[in-house]
Amino acid sequence: MSEQLDQDVRINLLDMDVEKIKSWCAQHGEKPFRAIQLARWMHRFLVDDFDQMTNLAKSFRAKLKDLAYIKAPSPITEKKSADGTRKWLFDVGNGNAVESVFIPEDDRGTLCISTQAGCPMGCLFCSTGKQGFNRNLATSEIVGQLWYAERELRQEAGITDPNDRIISNVVLMGMGEPLQNLDNVIPALKLFLDDNGYGLSRRRVTVSTSGLVNQMDKLGEAAPVALAVSLHAPDDALRDKLMPVNRKHPLGQLMAACRRYLKVAPRDFITFEYLLLGGVNDDPEQARELIRLVRDVPCKFNLIPFNPFPDSGLSKPERQRVLDFARILNEAGIVTTVRKTRGDDIDAACGQLAGEVKDRTRRAQRLVLQKEQARDVFAGKGESCARGDFHE
Ligand code: SF4
Repeated sequence: MSEQLDQDVRINLLDMDVEKIKSWCAQHGEKPFRAIQLARWMHRFLVDDFDQMTNLAKSFRAKLKDLAYIKAPSPITEKKSADGTRKWLFDVGNGNAVESVFIPEDDRGTLCISTQAGCPMGCLFCSTGKQGFNRNLATSEIVGQLWYAERELRQEAGITDPNDRIISNVVLMGMGEPLQNLDNVIPALKLFLDDNGYGLSRRRVTVSTSGLVNQMDKLGEAAPVALAVSLHAPDDALRDKLMPVNRKHPLGQLMAACRRYLKVAPRDFITFEYLLLGGVNDDPEQARELIRLVRDVPCKFNLIPFNPFPDSGLSKPERQRVLDFARILNEAGIVTTVRKTRGDDIDAACGQLAGEVKDRTRRAQRLVLQKEQARDVFAGKGESCARGDFHE
């Protein structure tokens, strides 16, 4: 039997959270402690060869080889920045690729991972959104990004102790809208949090959303990890233009969903991501409007000066405007940081993730038109950007 056919009939164990591994093992006559051993080999020791799982009975290993395999997406390229940032482009089949970025800092190592090949949300300022949308990533493709990156980084550093992790934080802020792929994202989050998986605390795992309010409720019920909300505008009129999702779920609904989320994660706060676009949303008065908007939501702000990419039709904010914006929020008692640009030399900065995606929704063609509209909209000539044809 060819390897390809073999893989078609067996299952990828990276698609399962620990509970699912237990029930799968039970179906095959194995006890729960065997499932835990298997999970630990995969996610703590990062082993993909059943023969190396030396404390599993030989008969169980033989069964595993017949029924299953362990496979993360394969990297196509890997880039290293002078500042230590790393970017991998992973093949997800059918000519599509997604990216993951590792950002080392003094007190943490953060991996930013993708959840969809492309993105259907159509945010006006986003390079990923401009490539169109292909499909949701499977749980194995989401978890596999962490599995691969941690293994690679550990091997390079010569680390063999499974408790000595290099990646301490995970953010679902790469390509795609994670909450549009909850069926596959939730098992991945469970694995990140599980002590027999990656053992991360829920404050070290952050999901970012453009504002899908119903799915925010579902995430809160299933896995209330830290939540980042892409806000980018203080009022509905502007947010409608920047983010089509706002036409379905305007700011009033979004703020209510944030408050509900914090009820299930009571000691937490929402991180509002706010991309500063020169001359569009960086006025001091807009900072004051934001303060009024979020007054009932315990929150922090992360300001991200826009990093223009070709054909965006939008500009970088002036440095003084960024500082003034941050000062106004900070003076109102809202902890506000300005994101440092990392990995500039390898295009790993926010909004620059740009794996190749086959655009079956023809969004890319429509976004050529949208680029021209962006100029018109902010010159006060046009009405709006592309239609928000996302689905929940
Ligand atoms: S900003 Fe996020 S949600 Fe919006 S198009 Fe880009 S990847 Fe999608």
